[in-house]
Amino acid sequence: MWFTQNNTGHNLSVSKEPAGQKIDPDGIRSMLKQNAPEIRLFFSACIHCTYCADTCFLQRNNPEDPSYMPSHKVIHSVGRLYKKRGKVTREELEEIRDILWDKCALCTRCLCPFQLNIPGMIALGRDICRSQGAVHRFDGPVPPVELPLEHHEGGK
Ligand code: SF4
Ligand code: SF4
Repeated sequence: MWFTQNNTGHNLSVSKEPAGQKIDPDGIRSMLKQNAPEIRLFFSACIHCTYCADTCFLQRNNPEDPSYMPSHKVIHSVGRLYKKRGKVTREELEEIRDILWDKCALCTRCLCPFQLNIPGMIALGRDICRSQGAVHRFDGPVPPVELPLEHHEGGK
């Protein structure tokens, strides 16, 4: 088990999904194929200008760590799966999963001047991970949420 922080700064206990499912490269390939035009467009049009970096709050909060850059996340997830034609090991897929969940909140705020669909690529990467059982499972207690006073008083 390991710990991570949610967006409110609370620690949450999170376990990594055990490697119980065999990787299905054909299944991954099929999902990549369905999205091939958009994937190809992304990698042919991205000029690594880093404009998207400034539009990602996680990259702005971690300016020294380029792995938070939106384009970096796409390249090292969907790009990696595409390059390897879905033939990845469980370990590689778990690295991809960690990029897609630990380094991105999928807030959809990143912008590309060429209108490349960065959140769409990240969502596709997550779908592929989910299809192979590479997900995070939250199994700790959810921290108590402080409701605003008016909720306790019947919305007065
Ligand atoms: S802004 Fe667009 S072209 Fe520039 S690095 Fe990001 S994804 Fe690539
Ligand atoms: S979707 Fe991910 S990469 Fe884009 S701005 Fe939000 S956290 Fe950053």
